[in-house]
Amino acid sequence: MRVAIVAIGDEILAGLTADTNTGIIAEKLRAVGAEAVSLHGAPDDEAAIALAFERALEDAEVAVSTGGLGPTADDLTTAAVARLTGVPLALHEPSLRAIEERFRDLGRPMSENNRKQAMLPEGSEEIANPTGTAPGFRCGVQRRGRQCWIVSLPGVPSEMLRMLDESVLPWLAERGDGVRFASRVFSTFGLTESALDESLAGLIPPGEGRLAFRAAFPRIQARVTVSGPTDSDLDARLDALEREARRRLADNLYAIGDMGMEEVVGSLLTERQLTLGVAESCTGGLIGHRLTEVAGSSSYLRLGVVAYANESKRALLGVQEATLAQHGAVSIQVAEQMAEGVRLLAGADLGIATTGIAGPGGGTEDKPVGTVCIGLAWSDGVWSRRYQLGARSRGWVKGMTAQLALDRLRRWLIREDDRHQT
Ligand code: ATP
Ligand code: MG
Repeated sequence: MRVAIVAIGDEILAGLTADTNTGIIAEKLRAVGAEAVSLHGAPDDEAAIALAFERALEDAEVAVSTGGLGPTADDLTTAAVARLTGVPLALHEPSLRAIEERFRDLGRPMSENNRKQAMLPEGSEEIANPTGTAPGFRCGVQRRGRQCWIVSLPGVPSEMLRMLDESVLPWLAERGDGVRFASRVFSTFGLTESALDESLAGLIPPGEGRLAFRAAFPRIQARVTVSGPTDSDLDARLDALEREARRRLADNLYAIGDMGMEEVVGSLLTERQLTLGVAESCTGGLIGHRLTEVAGSSSYLRLGVVAYANESKRALLGVQEATLAQHGAVSIQVAEQMAEGVRLLAGADLGIATTGIAGPGGGTEDKPVGTVCIGLAWSDGVWSRRYQLGARSRGWVKGMTAQLALDRLRRWLIREDDRHQT
């Protein structure tokens, strides 16, 4: 079943409110075998809204809209739909009673324009709004000799979501053509988006499914989607695709699903019953922050320090004066000493450290902005590497350095022989 989504409201078109409703609806449709085929937007203008629905119904059998159902003069969705379908607005008694009841419960007088919210295009079906005043509605309309539908929901995301889950999706599932979609996300790190694309080329035979890529810094994800009859075993097909993706991506595949590197590192540390100390310079606590976003991190994270000044690197972590003088604070030698220092200070199994030049100032010819060093120390060894990340924004360099450090930990944890790899 093809669905077009219509986002209504001046504030969306003006860029004042980000249109999150559209993405949520598009995502949820797939679970019931429906698919978003086009996206539309319209300002708070009756003719423009009617035109947006008209266009939406050129693409799809169902147009789902959000916004413009409120009591105010700028809420024009019902009027636009009535105009489009050539029916008058009619008072929907049960909706009026629900609105009156809601105001009684709130102990507030109902203003006359709230009555307007109970005016629905004649012949349409109400979609109950359990958490707000404006009901949604569904109304049938003929296009190209086919039965099509307009489904209108309020703009407030929480109200929209509940009505989508409780009323619209079950209705769509029932009317579906017996096709269902299922997808799986592969979270990767270590390959560029284009290298990932190349690695997965031909993974899905044409016509059997789809492969999509998403770069949401610092995550790079591939998502496979397959479809088939409701009773087909889509999970088994996804399992087979996952096996092949694992083979092709090897250690660059760090998680199945939309997951952060810190969650994966956390579960590996838990599994192996290892503890960690973190010494951060250029990442300024970002690694500690990300690790502590994960529930249960207290069982493996023992200590995090932000050792920004050379003096702090020396006093807290035992970095040697001579090393700082000879190699500078941004060096693999200092990164190693920081990692070993924090490991000892924390009494932990592992120590991870970052030092680098996040910019925009502070770069030199020898060590330009984006030069970062990561150190990792364990009971009988130490690893370090220098990276040239390039003169990107300060936030980007910090974020990428944290991700590289967490990824280094992950790779060490999953592959013993990686300890000595550079
Ligand atoms: P209300 O009864 O609140 O007036 P409504 O159905 O008329 O509801 P709008 O007035 O269009 O909806 O929007 C209400 C609020 O919902 C907006 O101020 C905005 O914060 C949010 N909103 C509307 N449309 C979207 C959207 N597409 N994505 C995210 N938020 C939205
Ligand atoms: Mg409104």
